[in-house]
Amino acid sequence: MAVHAHPDDESSKGAATTARYAAEGNEVLVVTLTGGERGDILNPAMDVPGIKDRITEVRREEMAAAAAALGVEQLWLGYTDSGLPEGDPLPPLPEGSFALVPLEEATEALVKVVREFKPHVITTYDEMGGYPHPDHIMCHKVSVAAYEAAGDPEQFPDAGEPWTPSKLYYNHGFSLTRLEVFADEYARIGEPFPMQEWMDRMRKYAAERGDVMSRVTTQVECAKYFPQRDDALRAHATQIDPNGAFFAIPTEMQQKLWPTEEFELAKTRVRTAIPETDLFAGIDDADTEDPDR
Ligand SMILES: [Zn+2]
Repeated sequence: MAVHAHPDDESSKGAATTARYAAEGNEVLVVTLTGGERGDILNPAMDVPGIKDRITEVRREEMAAAAAALGVEQLWLGYTDSGLPEGDPLPPLPEGSFALVPLEEATEALVKVVREFKPHVITTYDEMGGYPHPDHIMCHKVSVAAYEAAGDPEQFPDAGEPWTPSKLYYNHGFSLTRLEVFADEYARIGEPFPMQEWMDRMRKYAAERGDVMSRVTTQVECAKYFPQRDDALRAHATQIDPNGAFFAIPTEMQQKLWPTEEFELAKTRVRTAIPETDLFAGIDDADTEDPDR
């Protein structure tokens, strides 16, 4: 179960991994916490009449196409996008925003989904939200709380039969190390690196907090599924500019030089050995049999 804040996050964070596990016969569910109603239109080609006034609907259509591209199931938790507040001082979040929902309430909603779907593995964002969007930070809090509570019969007794997930991971796709590998390759072939600006930003971030690679415990080989990830990204046409940074590095170069996606094992109830190459490492086949089947 991959828990994400907005439609399109599932396609930019751990997407190829979900596509791989789905292709290998696992049930994979993307849970999208908000409708992405406050996302700006980031693709100039889609900034046209008839899109913005029906953005909720458009984002639902985009999400359905992205889920189909990845081969995963998808479910909306039904909260409202908080938007990315900008300015100094930051304006208050709009009323009704996901980030303002009481944690208990949002946790119960996610616990209900966990108890129905019965995931062995849950993925989410780290405590910084991966990047500090209020919905991403809330996504982290709710996912951790649901991971802890879902198996406890005392908590949320009206939210279904308890189910205890085995592992919780954070997505860590945006690493400086990965960009540096590509930058080196561009230097080697004598071409300007198309993600220089992005890399400079990440250098600043890494100087403050260290690169996320130092937190990575698990690298999942999924290069074969990069084209599906790219299709899923392109399906979010209002959010992802096909001429933008996500597509700046040729897929084949990524497959050759960085064929994995990165995760941090945040919590586990099974024994495993770090580093890992599989999110299901340590989970026995016996545990994965659904007793209802
Ligand atoms: Zn997001």
